[in-house]
Amino acid sequence: MADSVIEHVDILIVGAGPVGMTLHLALAAGGQSSLLLDRRPPAALQADPRALALSQGARELLEQINSWPTRAGTPIETIHVSHKDGFGRTLIDCADYALPALGYVVRYRDLAAALTANLQTESLLAEAEILNIEADGDGATVALRHGGQLRSIRCKLLVHAEGTPRDDPAVSVSDYDQHAVICEVTPTPGNNKRAWERFTPDGPLALLPLGDQYSIVFTLPPAKADAVMALDDDAFVAALQAQFGRRMRFAKPGKRSRFPLALRMRDTLVKGGEVWVGNTAQTLHPVSGQGFNLGLRDAWQLSEILLKNGVDRQALAQYAASRRLDRQGGAFFTDKIVKAFSNDFGPLKLARGLGLLALDLCPPARHFVAKRMIWGARAWP
Ligand SMILES: Cc1cc2nc3c(=O)[nH]c(=O)nc-3n(C[C@H](O)[C@H](O)[C@H](O)COP(=O)(O)OP(=O)(O)OC[C@H]3O[C@@H](n4cnc5c(N)ncnc54)[C@H](O)[C@@H]3O)c2cc1C
Repeated sequence: MADSVIEHVDILIVGAGPVGMTLHLALAAGGQSSLLLDRRPPAALQADPRALALSQGARELLEQINSWPTRAGTPIETIHVSHKDGFGRTLIDCADYALPALGYVVRYRDLAAALTANLQTESLLAEAEILNIEADGDGATVALRHGGQLRSIRCKLLVHAEGTPRDDPAVSVSDYDQHAVICEVTPTPGNNKRAWERFTPDGPLALLPLGDQYSIVFTLPPAKADAVMALDDDAFVAALQAQFGRRMRFAKPGKRSRFPLALRMRDTLVKGGEVWVGNTAQTLHPVSGQGFNLGLRDAWQLSEILLKNGVDRQALAQYAASRRLDRQGGAFFTDKIVKAFSNDFGPLKLARGLGLLALDLCPPARHFVAKRMIWGARAWP
């Protein structure tokens, strides 16, 4: 590596997932170039099976960079929240907020395609393998292998957008002992643009309207997830039906995938010439669909600060401070919901029922929760 030529860029973004691409495009829209790097080919994003519930706020940001997947988004007009074997439920309706929808459901692959379509070929180094990173107070030097060649890139700012981190002492981990089994199913009657969040002692079950289908996030303890993954389609539908109840019938389940779930919070967002955004900064439980919405706001806020101040240490510290409320609020909200609802403890069950009833009967409390789901930290007082 010693004799390879050193190339220079202002901003190098490692990870061309939806958060890294959003940051790159938001910077480009403001006239700031950056280089994206990913270890996989762009086509790999097309194999991701997730569907994402995106907030109205997320849609507005993506529209500003011409990356809203117009034809692929299904509006969520109402959200029904309930818990299994208990009283109390609440209904959140977009009509109460003068919005066409509370949010939208898009396939990860359609969002990735909309973002990728706006990339210039030369702005992405795909299938690049990072060999070494040397970070210092003035930036970082990244040694990598790309297209069979060794390269060395010096940047003023290295942005990490690599997604969920593995073992890293800078990241605190709280394992939920739950796995999400996801797939698409056909409902009868149709989905009526209604999302369902149903809490069960095994974990939350979410149904997101996606075209004529429902995208299912079926959360279970790992051993039960093993069993559910092994079922044939009829038995899988029966297990789903047992968790959801009889208000709808499900059929034709698609291919199943699973994701282990943990809360992963990075202690420090900025260190010298490095900054962390998206899932690599915080990975949340998928309940209430906060993860990408939060990562998108990371990318957006970082782009605004960089466009205004350039790569400036004080401005980066300001970025870290500005993200505190949103990320900690999102993590706190999802973590507490999962822990309060994923058990069968009698007194807690009663409190949950009363809480759902109170939300339903008390519009200000319901609006408080709904607005934070729609707008994130922008809605905080
Ligand atoms: C079951 C499930 C359901 C979810 N539902 C929702 C939802 O409804 N709403 C919502 O907002 N969020 C949801 N999420 C969360 C959402 O999927 C993530 O927040 C989002 O995908 C994070 O995007 P990202 O770009 O940070 O990371 P990723 O999507 O993981 O992309 C990271 C990119 O970095 C690349 N990369 C990784 N390591 C390297 C490396 N060493 N060198 C180069 N490149 C690298 C990868 O190849 C990848 O392209 C859900 C998550 C799960 C598991």
